[in-house]
Amino acid sequence: MDLQYDVIIIGSGPAGLTAAIYATRANLTTAIIEGDTPGGKLTKTYEIENYPGFERISGVDLAMQMMEHGQKFGAVMEFSPVTEIDDEGEFKLVHLGDGRVLTTRAVIVATGTNERQLDLPRAKEFTGRGISYCAVCDGAFYRSKEVAVIGGGNSALEESLYLTQLVNKVNIIIRRDVFRADATVVDKVRNNPKINIITKSLPQELVIEDNAIKGLVIKNVETGELSTVDCAGIFPYMGADPATGFLKNLNILDERGYIVVNKDMETAVPGIYGAGDVTVKDLRQVVTATNDGAIAANACARYLNR
Ligand code: NAP
Repeated sequence: MDLQYDVIIIGSGPAGLTAAIYATRANLTTAIIEGDTPGGKLTKTYEIENYPGFERISGVDLAMQMMEHGQKFGAVMEFSPVTEIDDEGEFKLVHLGDGRVLTTRAVIVATGTNERQLDLPRAKEFTGRGISYCAVCDGAFYRSKEVAVIGGGNSALEESLYLTQLVNKVNIIIRRDVFRADATVVDKVRNNPKINIITKSLPQELVIEDNAIKGLVIKNVETGELSTVDCAGIFPYMGADPATGFLKNLNILDERGYIVVNKDMETAVPGIYGAGDVTVKDLRQVVTATNDGAIAANACARYLNR
């Protein structure tokens, strides 16, 4: 078999890029495969305040520095989505969307998660022109206007705080009456005069006039009462699901689709590892993703040297 790499890392977020640094420094020939945006979810994050060494850094800046560092010791970048992995024992075949099949001895999967989409009539049609999953990318389109953010996790609240620098008013819509985000962020949100919190409500229908979003009809989950939130933009931050559709044949996923790993980030298939948000874990953070990447690459080097 024509072996191309010792290890292929799938995904170029913090977990994948850290794995690349450790793998290349262990002298493994390494490829990083990215099917979407290099840098992962960091590139859609306004600011990071909890990555040691950086009291405050923009997500894009941290992603760029990690990208540069991740390739510094010789990792090769390949751009194409992975469609399937075949486990042939000592060799793994990585099938790409562009038709190529790469051969490797080990794989580290660090594909992260995909945002949950707003499931309303015509939502797809208005994604990118009224509905956005990236406040950092699209927030400026709504300067001096009113927007709605759906969800009460860290992403929703942190991006709402970012949006207040641009827009007149942010309506945060949550389905319960408690947030899922860290206490410090919740405090900042509660004390921000530009933020209006609407509890116990779910999005029901888009209000569209002149082919543009003008508002969002919401339904109170207790009373069933409908009301309309005026807004020119809608930012759904309703959590995410693991990006593991291409792994279904390997039997390494839990019932929600996350990769099951042990403390060395090994899956049940020898030579295949998971790292970062895509794995079963409690704390999904940049710092825990980098930790996973280092452990996975280290375990992988040991496996390949055996
Ligand atoms: P999350 O923590 O899972 O929060 C999702 C939010 O969306 C929750 O408020 C949830 O409501 C709501 N939601 C889910 N499905 C919904 C639906 N169908 N309709 C309406 N609302 C819905 O997701 P996340 O904020 O994307 O964060 C993902 C992970 O990354 C978390 O572990 C988070 O801590 C981490 N993260 C960390 C940071 C940081 O530390 N700086 C920043 C961003 C993300 P319920 O609460 O009612 O379920």
